[in-house]
Amino acid sequence: MSIRQSKTDVILIGAGIMSATLGTLLKELVPDWNITVFEKLANAGEESSNEWNNAGTGHAALCELNYTVEKPDGSVDISKALKINEEYQVSKQFWSYLVNSNLIRNPEDFIRPLPHLSFVQGEQNVSFLKKRFEALSANPLFQGMEFSDDPKKLMEWIPLIMKDRIVNEPIAATKIDSGTDVNFGALTRMLFDHLQRKGVDIHYKHQVDDLKRTSDGVWELKVRNVDSGAVERHSAKFVFIGGGGGSLLLLQKSGIPEGKHIGGFPVSGLFMVCNNPDVIEQHHAKVYGKAKVGAPPMSVPHLDTRFIDNKKMLLFGPFAGFSPKFLKTGSMFDLLCSVKPDNVTTMLAAGAKNVPLTKYLIQQVMLSKDQRMEELREFIPNAKSEDWDIVVAGQRVQVIKDTPAGKGTLQFGTEVISAADGSIAALLGASPGASTAVSVMLDVISRCFPEHLQAWEPKIKEMIPSYGLSLLNHPELLDDIQTSTARTLGLSSELVLV
Ligand SMILES: Cc1cc2nc3c(=O)[nH]c(=O)nc-3n(C[C@H](O)[C@H](O)[C@H](O)COP(=O)(O)OP(=O)(O)OC[C@H]3O[C@@H](n4cnc5c(N)ncnc54)[C@H](O)[C@@H]3O)c2cc1C
Repeated sequence: MSIRQSKTDVILIGAGIMSATLGTLLKELVPDWNITVFEKLANAGEESSNEWNNAGTGHAALCELNYTVEKPDGSVDISKALKINEEYQVSKQFWSYLVNSNLIRNPEDFIRPLPHLSFVQGEQNVSFLKKRFEALSANPLFQGMEFSDDPKKLMEWIPLIMKDRIVNEPIAATKIDSGTDVNFGALTRMLFDHLQRKGVDIHYKHQVDDLKRTSDGVWELKVRNVDSGAVERHSAKFVFIGGGGGSLLLLQKSGIPEGKHIGGFPVSGLFMVCNNPDVIEQHHAKVYGKAKVGAPPMSVPHLDTRFIDNKKMLLFGPFAGFSPKFLKTGSMFDLLCSVKPDNVTTMLAAGAKNVPLTKYLIQQVMLSKDQRMEELREFIPNAKSEDWDIVVAGQRVQVIKDTPAGKGTLQFGTEVISAADGSIAALLGASPGASTAVSVMLDVISRCFPEHLQAWEPKIKEMIPSYGLSLLNHPELLDDIQTSTARTLGLSSELVLV
């Protein structure tokens, strides 16, 4: 029996937003490189990047309270918020470049302007929010942020949340109009359509089962045609493991030393979706609350207007939970299969440390719809059960590794792991996720193609004018970028479509 074989410059494993972004960047930088993609599902953007599997927040730290931590001296550390905001400016610049170059069209199909609010109750939380506001609003990246603890003002901003609310404790919110709702599923599909037009070889229903480095330094992948079961061999000089939750298992199979001593902690998610058009119409914002004590950062509740298939929707969640699967379409054995001799002590240490978190997540899975409605009523006091349905969201696999903070420490960010020779890289973790895809993929490029960077820099700067610069130190550039990206992506307030 003949086995199908191919040789190419670049193989991207997985057709999510990360591979889409890396493939698009590389096609602009080196159009003549051959790129091949293998995706086990039938279409692009079907796992975490799908619009129903993530919250669609353009994370710029405008409203997510977990990106600003209160320090022991009572001050608020905004360094993470500044970093995430700058990274989101990078994404917006690249998306604008793609629109301006007619490589993708109709930005309103994937990005919409939407006010971002943080909403808190209780004296301590209000005091934290005020300090956070004072620290951020003075910064040009957060220009236009407003604070109010006046229930009348809040009624103007978030009528659905304030209606029928008994206000018997301090209450406050911040609001900033430069927030966005992003349909990462639509964007992923647009980018793969573009890559296909550019001649990228995309194979759906093809699962990568194994990969190994051959004696001449090339990576050889064992790929299975999901329909026929036929096994194929494909090789490339560079491989990106963009398998989302599936990346850890593939990284382990690669055997690179950089992938050792790393584990994964899967967290599942659920959203509640409103089915009542009257209720949906009463809200127009993303409103983030504060995580409950003991809850992980990815379960911060938020009430979001979303635009899916160009239709306005209202979603609440996510409710985090525990499932041993690494992908929504994964296997119940994923967690078990990820335990290897090199990471077993790391995983055991993480298991011992995170008993309360695991207990919390299991309790969350067991919640009844009535109990979930009670959580929703903290946002919409008069929410009716019949107006809300439950949908299953994507899986996030948080990285576990040994850090100076201790063995088996759970990480809540994203992490690029690459081989010392730059021939392979994997993306692990899920937060801030899709919003920072462009910065993260530029990081992959700088780690894996250092010999080309100098030659590529002018093109990178054409695509991302702030490349290599801190926008904080270049306020005029920030101003230019914010104006031009808002115009191109349809985010200017004068263009706002409700
Ligand atoms: C509940 C939830 C809410 C979120 N909210 C936000 C948000 O508001 N904003 C934000 O920016 N980010 C958010 N994220 C994170 C964001 O969705 C992810 O960071 C991002 O989508 C990851 O993209 P990816 O391309 O790495 O993975 P994915 O989109 O999961 O794509 C990976 C692809 O690889 C394929 N694959 C896996 N293994 C193999 C294999 N062996 N062979 C072939 N193909 C394979 C999978 O089928 C999949 O299509 C959220 C995530 C979740 C789960």
